[in-house]
Amino acid sequence: MANELRFQVVGEAFKKKPLSVVAPNEKPSEYFGLKVFNRQKMYKYLPKSVYDKMIDVIENGTRLDRAVADAVAAGMMQWAQENGVTHYTHWFQPLTEGTAEKHDSFIEHDGKGGMIEEFSGKLLVQQEPDASSFPSGGIRSTFEARGYSAWDPTSPVFIMDDTLIIPTVFISYSGEALDYKAPLLRALKAVNVAATEVCHYFDPEVKKVVSNLGWEQEYFLVDEGLYAARPDLLLTGRTLMGHDSAKNQQMDDHYFGAIPERVQAFMKELEIEALELGIPCKTRHNEVAPNQFELAPIFEETNLAVDHNMLLMSVMKKVARKHGFRVLLHEKPFAGINGSGKHNNWSLSTDTGVLLHAPGKTAEQNLRFATFIVETLMGVYKHNGLLKASIMSATNAHRLGANEAPPAIISSFLGKQVSELLDHIEKADKDDILAFAGKQGMKMDIPEIPELLIDNTDRNRTSPFAFTGNRFEFRAVGSEANCASAMIALNSAVAEALVEFKKKVDARIPEFEKKLAGTGHSAKFHAIIDVLREDIKTCKPIRFDGNGYSDEWKAEAAKRGLDTETSCPKIFERYLDDASIKMFESLNVMTKKELEARNEVKWETYTKKIQIEARVLGDLSMNHIIPVATSYQSQLLRNVERMCTVFPAEKAKELNARNLKLIEEIAQRTATIETQVEELVAARKVANKIEGEFKKAIAYHDTIAPMFDTIRYQIDKLELIVDDSLWPLPKYRELLFIR
Ligand code: ADP
Ligand code: MG
Repeated sequence: MANELRFQVVGEAFKKKPLSVVAPNEKPSEYFGLKVFNRQKMYKYLPKSVYDKMIDVIENGTRLDRAVADAVAAGMMQWAQENGVTHYTHWFQPLTEGTAEKHDSFIEHDGKGGMIEEFSGKLLVQQEPDASSFPSGGIRSTFEARGYSAWDPTSPVFIMDDTLIIPTVFISYSGEALDYKAPLLRALKAVNVAATEVCHYFDPEVKKVVSNLGWEQEYFLVDEGLYAARPDLLLTGRTLMGHDSAKNQQMDDHYFGAIPERVQAFMKELEIEALELGIPCKTRHNEVAPNQFELAPIFEETNLAVDHNMLLMSVMKKVARKHGFRVLLHEKPFAGINGSGKHNNWSLSTDTGVLLHAPGKTAEQNLRFATFIVETLMGVYKHNGLLKASIMSATNAHRLGANEAPPAIISSFLGKQVSELLDHIEKADKDDILAFAGKQGMKMDIPEIPELLIDNTDRNRTSPFAFTGNRFEFRAVGSEANCASAMIALNSAVAEALVEFKKKVDARIPEFEKKLAGTGHSAKFHAIIDVLREDIKTCKPIRFDGNGYSDEWKAEAAKRGLDTETSCPKIFERYLDDASIKMFESLNVMTKKELEARNEVKWETYTKKIQIEARVLGDLSMNHIIPVATSYQSQLLRNVERMCTVFPAEKAKELNARNLKLIEEIAQRTATIETQVEELVAARKVANKIEGEFKKAIAYHDTIAPMFDTIRYQIDKLELIVDDSLWPLPKYRELLFIR
C-alpha cells in the first residue's frame, strides 16, 4: 500500500517478530501488589507496635509522630533495597493534570569519606520540591514562594523501576492546596463525617463511611510511526485536521469485537504491570470507535482509586511505547467518531456494606437507602452547574454535548423502581406516612425495592449521572482528567446535603415526639420521611429519564433551572458562585482564596491549550498543507499545458475541463486557508493583550476556537483531491486501523 511506504508503520516490525510479554507464570493473585508496600509488607518489615500505629493512622486518620515515621521509613527502605531500589520520590498531582515527581537517591556522606544509604522519617514525611513552575494561580507568589509535599499514608508507597514512590499532597507554605489530593482528602473526610452522622439514625454502631470510586478508562491506540508523522497529535493530543475515513464506526463492529493481537499483547503487559502495582484490573474490551479500548479495575476507596488511575495513565503510556503504540488519552482525538470518557462509578459504604444498595430486608434499611439516594440527588441538584465545572476542560468540551457523550447538562437517571419509590414517598400525605410508618417504630411496605437488585436493565446511556443498582455513574468525566476534580465536587455536594438533611431532621424530631406521644411511633423516622418528602419535591428538576441528546431536553432543562451553559470558561465560573464557596468553606474543603487561585489556573490552562492548537494549526496549514496543495496544482497545470501541445485546442479544452476545475478549487481553498490563518494570527494577537485570565479565556473560546473549524473544513476538502502520495499527514483510515 502506498501509504505504508509514505510512513513507517512501526506495527510492521511488531508483526514480524513474535511478541513476548514479560508474563510471569504465576496467577495474578500471586503477583498482585508485588511492588506495593501494603499491609502484608508492613507487617513483615515493621515492628509490631509501629505496624499497629500505621494501621491506626490509615484507618482512623490519627496523627503520625516522628519516631513512628522514622521506624516506618527504615522498614520501607529495607524492603525497597531488597528490590533493587536506589531512589525515592515524593509523587504529587499538580493542577496541570498528570503527576509530578523529583527523584533523590538514598545516598548520603557517611562523614568518613564514604557513602551510606539513608532514609529518615523526615524525608518520608515532608519535602520541598523546587516547584515554583507548577501552576498555583498566584497563591505562592502572593504568600510564600515555597510549596511542600507531605506524605499521604492512606495511599501506600510503591516501586517503579529503581524508585520508591511516595504519594503526597502538595501544599503551599501557608497551607493552601496546590494539587488535587489535598482538597480530595478534605472532601472525603467531610462526606465521612456527614454520612456517618446520618447513618446513626439507623445504626448507632456505624463507625465510618467510605466513598468508593470505580473508574472506567477509555483510550485510543495509534501506531507510533504514524503518530510521529502527525505534529498535531504530538503537540496537542488530537488531530486538528483529517477527513473522515470511509469506514469508521458505522458498522458497530469494533465494540466488544475481538481484540487485535498486537493490542492484546499490550493489554496483557499493561495489566501485569498494573496488578503488580496493586491496581485491581478487571475488565478490558474494545470500545465503540476503531482503535478505542477500555480498561476498568474493581472499585476502591476514592483516594486510592484516584491515585491508581493517575498511575495507570502513566504506566499505559510507557507500556504502549514498548509495543510500538502511542496511547491517546485526549477526550476527542478524532472528529466524527466517538471520543473517550472515564465513567466514575461512585458510592458510599460503611463498615457494614454499600449504602446505595437496596437491601430490602428491613424497613430501616430501606429508609436509609432512600435517604442516601435522595440526599445524593439534593447535592447534585443544588450544585449541578458546579459538577459540570468539575468535569469541564478545553479537551472534554469537544466531547460533551456531542451525540456520543452525556449532554452538557447534569441530570440524573434513576430507573423505574427507584423513581417509583421516590414518587411513593413524595405522594404519601401525612396520614399515609403514619400508616406506612406503622406501629412498631417503622414498617415501610414498598415491594419495589427488593426487585432493584435484579432489574437494572433499563439503563439510560445518555444520562450523565445514572443510578445503576448499587452506585451512581458520573459519566461526564473526561478520559484525560484527574478523577479527583469530579470526586471533590461530588463528595462535597453530598456531604453538604447530608449535613442540611440532619439539621432539618433534628429540628423536627421534637415536634413529632409531641404529636406521636403514646402512639408507639418513632418520631425520628417520621421526621426523616417528612424531610425526604420535601427534598424529593425540591430536587425533582434533576431527575430526567428521557433522551439527553434531544433538543427538547435542552429547552426543558433550561425551564427547570438547570445549568445549560456550554462555554467552558464560563462554566468554570460556577466554582466562584456563592453557593459553591459556602459549601467548600463550610466543609473545610477549599477556601475562597484557593478557589479563586484554582480558577485562574483553569482559565490560563484553557487559553494555553487553544493557543497551542491555533499555532499548530497555523503552522501545519502554511508549512504542510498549502505547499503540497500548490505543488499538486503545479503538476496539474503542467499537465494542462502539455495537453494543449498534443491535442487540438477544442479537444484539449474538453480534456482539461476536470483538471482546470481542480486547479481552480485548489487555488480558492488555499487562498481561503491563507486568509483565515492570517485572521487567526491577528485574533490571537488581540486576545493575548487582554488583561485577566477569565477575559482572555473567553476571547479564545469565542473568537479563536471557532476559526479552527473553518480552516479545517478547507483542509479536509483538499485532502480529498490532492494526490494521495503527496499528502503529508497520515490519514484517518491509516491512523484508525491497527495493523
Ligand atoms: P459498565 O461498563 O457496565 O458500566 P464495568 O463493569 O465496566 O461496568 O465497570 C463498572 C465499574 O463500577 C467497575 O470499576 C466496578 O468495580 C465499579 N463498581 C461496581 N459497584 C460499585 C460500587 N458500589 N461503587 C463504586 N463502584 C462500583
Ligand atoms: Mg459504566
